[in-house]
Amino acid sequence: THFGFETVSEEEKGGKVYHVFQSVAKKYDVMNDMMSLGIHRIWKDLLLWKMHPFPGTQLLDVAGGTGDIAFRFLNYIQAQHRGRQKRQLRAQQNLSWEEIAKKYQNEEDSLGGSQVVICDINKEMLKVGKQKAQAQGYKAGLAWILGDAEELPFDDDKFDVYTIAFGIRNVTHIDRALQEAHRVLKPGGRFLCLEFSQVNNPLISRLYDLYSFQVIPVLGEVIAGDWKSYQYLVESIRKFPPQEEFKEMIEDAGFQKVSYESLTSGIVAIHSGFKL
Ligand code: SAM
Repeated sequence: THFGFETVSEEEKGGKVYHVFQSVAKKYDVMNDMMSLGIHRIWKDLLLWKMHPFPGTQLLDVAGGTGDIAFRFLNYIQAQHRGRQKRQLRAQQNLSWEEIAKKYQNEEDSLGGSQVVICDINKEMLKVGKQKAQAQGYKAGLAWILGDAEELPFDDDKFDVYTIAFGIRNVTHIDRALQEAHRVLKPGGRFLCLEFSQVNNPLISRLYDLYSFQVIPVLGEVIAGDWKSYQYLVESIRKFPPQEEFKEMIEDAGFQKVSYESLTSGIVAIHSGFKL
C-alpha cells in the first residue's frame, strides 16, 4: 500500500482483527488514553449526549469491547432516572433533599428497566470488560454476549438503540453489519456509530498523518509490546470510507434520516440513522 503496509484479503481480515484485539485487550484502555491523549473519552461522552437515552431504553452496543459505551449509558440513565424520581417525590410528598437522598442509596433500583447488551466477537475483550464492571461496582443492567456484528445472535425488532464505537471499521463486511443493525432495531429505533473518519483541515491532516504513522506504532511497541497491532490500527483508519460515503452505506442498509457530525476536524464522526 501507499504507506508500505501489507494488504490483507477479506478472509484474512477477520482472523487478523481477532488476533489484534486478543493481543491488546489487557492494555486496551491505557493505550486508548495514551494515543488519543484522553480525547476518546470526550468523543464517547458526546455519543451519549447525542443518544440522550431515557430510563427504559434497551441498548445494544456492538463491538462493545471493554464496556466504555455501556458504562456511560448506565451512568446517564441513572442520573436521569434518579433526577426524575427525586423531583416527583419532592413534589408529591414534600420531602427534603436529604430525606430523598437516603431513599436512593440502592443503585439497582435506578435504571427504570434499561438494559445494555454488550456484544463483541472477542472473548478476551469481554473478559476485561466484565472485570472492569465488577471493579467499578456495576451490577444491574448489563449483559455480555459473544457474537459477530455480521450475524447478531438476537431476534428482529429488539432494541431501541444500536451503537458501535470504533468497531465497524474492523468488521469484514460492513454492509452486512449495517443490515444486521437494521434488523435488530425496533421500528423507530436509532443507529449510532462513532468511528474514525476523514480529516477536513489540510494542516491538521498533515500533523495527524505524522502522528499516526510515526508515533502510534512506537507507542504500541513501547506500552503494549505490539508494533504490528497498532500499525494495523492506523492502516484500518485510513481505509475506512469518508463521512459522505459511509452515510450512503447506512442509507443502503435501509436507515432513514441519516446524518453525521464530524468531531475534532473530522478525526472522528458520529453517524446517526433511524429505522422508520
Ligand atoms: N467499543 C469499544 C471502544 O470504543 O472502546 C471497543 C472498540 S475496539 C477498537 C474494537 C472492538 O471490535 C474489539 O473489541 C473487537 O473485538 C470488536 N470486533 C471486531 N470485529 C467484530 C465483529 N465482527 N463483531 C463484533 N465485534 C467485533
